[in-house]
Amino acid sequence: MISYREALAKIAAEVGPLEPTSLPVDECLFRSLSESVKAPFDAPRFDNSAVDGYAVRAIDLAQASPESPVELPLCGKVQAGDAGSLAYPEGSTVQVLTGAAIPSGFDAMVMQEDVSAENGSVRFVHPAERGAHVRWQGEEYRTGHRLFEAGTRITPQLLASLAGLGMAQVPVTRPPKLGILATGNELAEPGASLSPGGIYESNSFGIEAAAKTLGLTHVVRDRAKDDPDETRAKLEALLLECDCVVTTGGVSVGEHDLVRAALGELGVREVFWRVAIKPGKPVAFGVWESEGRRRLVFGLPGNPVSALVTFALFAVPALGALNGNGFQSQPEWPATLASELHKAPGRMEFVRCELEHTESGLLARPIEARGSHMLGSMGGASGLIHLPQNAEHVSAGSRVTVSPFDWRWP
Ligand code: AMP
Ligand code: MG
Repeated sequence: MISYREALAKIAAEVGPLEPTSLPVDECLFRSLSESVKAPFDAPRFDNSAVDGYAVRAIDLAQASPESPVELPLCGKVQAGDAGSLAYPEGSTVQVLTGAAIPSGFDAMVMQEDVSAENGSVRFVHPAERGAHVRWQGEEYRTGHRLFEAGTRITPQLLASLAGLGMAQVPVTRPPKLGILATGNELAEPGASLSPGGIYESNSFGIEAAAKTLGLTHVVRDRAKDDPDETRAKLEALLLECDCVVTTGGVSVGEHDLVRAALGELGVREVFWRVAIKPGKPVAFGVWESEGRRRLVFGLPGNPVSALVTFALFAVPALGALNGNGFQSQPEWPATLASELHKAPGRMEFVRCELEHTESGLLARPIEARGSHMLGSMGGASGLIHLPQNAEHVSAGSRVTVSPFDWRWP
């Protein structure tokens, strides 16, 4: 069996960004830039005011004091959106509102709270420093400045920056389409009545929710009975539609574990099957190539904890790579273990935990119920403790590595 790191390396070697495309800016959340972005204009684009107040020439106020105020005739008003292109005589002032262009010739702003304005003139009682409350053209960056690199993830704040650059369409990596196939005769849709021996299907819901949190918009869920033809047909349909297909269940060595056989019949090249981890040992990964397109397939185990954990460990980094963010395995943070843990040597173990920020750093509280079928204990988990392959006893207070369940790409 290969190790967790070996499995990651094998996936990384098979994945890269999908082709570039262009999307409307308001559809770009969590996409990644497929090209770098340069400034199409100076920022600010024109000298403008940071305050509501009066534009002056600093030199005119050099002698102003409460004892001998300087009074300047008020010659106009510029508000945000006005061109501000009129020329005003020397020795005058103009009212300029926040964000409005400062007419040429003026070099400082005085806040309206600091003056008295009446009868067409404005009285100033302090000198103004050149540049006071002025946002100069180009002070943040100049036209052509390289602002954002290809591969950058489009967060809400980056999306706002792109809109602010006037970009209606944004060059992005095409977002991956994800297909999810839950296999098993026992599975019933939540809300349906359960037959004896039946259970509610939960894997595809957790995986779809995780995918949406990652920003995937095209996610299809389907279910297949433990029937070779149905399994193969539904897999084929998802492979044709999606860039990445994850199945849950039917991937171990049971008589009804049909997924690997179906993948083989469809021509999926198996890259690995079985990883020395717990939960999730029977996980499989393969690649389907057809008509110049590559699809990734993850055969995830059926146990609800195993399915979601292996999705996080293996499929999330792969989807990130398809999305153009580069292949990044789950973040690994140092934490202190709150209570002792025992495990059998041989497989790396991921133990669900609650993560808590304390004054002395991150504290990881292992969740008692560790069985991979114990979905209840998954609900409250906020992370996974990594226990090394050969560890057997890890005492309370030890430094451990944890990965938070925050379902995001860097
Ligand atoms: P399998 O790998 O198909 O043998 O499934 C392992 C265990 O996970 C069995 O107890 C299944 O009933 C359960 N299981 C499989 N798929 C799902 C699913 N989609 N939702 C909830 N439990 C599942
Ligand atoms: Mg099954």
